[in-house]
Amino acid sequence: MAIVGATGAVGEEMRLCLEQRNFPVGKLTLLASARSVGKRFPFRGEEIAVEELTHDSFAGVDIALFSAGGSISLEFGPSAAAAGAVVIDNSSAFRMDADVPLVVPEINPQAAKNPPRGIIANPNCTTIISLMALAPLHAAFGLEAIIASSYQAVSGSGAQGIRELEEQVKAITAGLPFTPKVYPRQIAFNVIPQVDVFTDNGYTKEEMKMLYEGRKILGLPGLKVSCTCVRVPVYRSHSIAITAQFSRPVDVAAARAAYADQPGIQVVDDPAERLFPVPLDTTGKDACLVGRIRRNLVLDNALDLWVVGDQVRKGAALNAVQIAELL
Ligand code: NAP
Repeated sequence: MAIVGATGAVGEEMRLCLEQRNFPVGKLTLLASARSVGKRFPFRGEEIAVEELTHDSFAGVDIALFSAGGSISLEFGPSAAAAGAVVIDNSSAFRMDADVPLVVPEINPQAAKNPPRGIIANPNCTTIISLMALAPLHAAFGLEAIIASSYQAVSGSGAQGIRELEEQVKAITAGLPFTPKVYPRQIAFNVIPQVDVFTDNGYTKEEMKMLYEGRKILGLPGLKVSCTCVRVPVYRSHSIAITAQFSRPVDVAAARAAYADQPGIQVVDDPAERLFPVPLDTTGKDACLVGRIRRNLVLDNALDLWVVGDQVRKGAALNAVQIAELL
């Protein structure tokens, strides 16, 4: 098994997930850029040295977990597949390729079977966490439309996002000047309604991923989605406020019941006791949490809900390792 991008926020979490879930790894190869060669990371009581990613890195590798950005996946993913590895890719490079399955193991595990190009894509993190909450409701009521706003942590931008928030908090509290580098505006003590770049229709790429990827994963080509993605000064775990409209009448008790026995999602919903999920509740955890479930006051057959999940883990590394487990 190999991890490409092993020194990154997601790559490091992949290594942890493999160890914590006791995944049957024979040899683990850690790959990154030339900058990281020689860095060492622990795995099952041993230290593994990082090697430079090349087109020859994949001889003898059964499964290659890619998490080094879209351009690296496009360049090296096909080499890994040609060498006989199944590629599980965490970038957006292959997600909308008709011959590349897009998989959330709790929702569409069957799609992972026999990937035609030897590549399986991990969906966008906000999409995974949102669909973890929506798939059980879709089964109960028939999902037709989603209106959502996300509250996305800075670790969604990798190690550099965490650094930017830390540095700005320090500079502001010390009264020192600073220049935003990673985000278009100050992120400390602020929120920014831009995640990824804007497209021609006024939505960002991140917002459109929820539409395109949601349709593909749920097998609902007519699903309507309108989304506003917002970066917030939270270190880890994304939250999403969702209004979901269904084809059949909804009922709050039936919605809560729809989550019973569903793996990977738990209901935390007792507002009278101030019980609702917050990002710190899911940080470092596998399960997504859903709460604030209520009937929408504007639309027919619609529910409002609030879902939170660790986007480095269920939104990326854990989901990829779960796909590997399916294989
Ligand atoms: P990151 O912390 O910035 O890590 C990037 C990784 O890519 C590092 O290991 C880096 O190695 C490696 N890399 C960069 N250039 C390389 C090159 N030329 N050759 C080989 N390796 C190279 O980023 P991240 O947050 O982990 O994100 C990685 C991918 O996962 C991205 O596609 C991102 O969109 C996706 N993703 C991230 C999240 C999240 O919450 N962070 C969630 C879902 C999906 P060096 O250390 O050697 O530079």
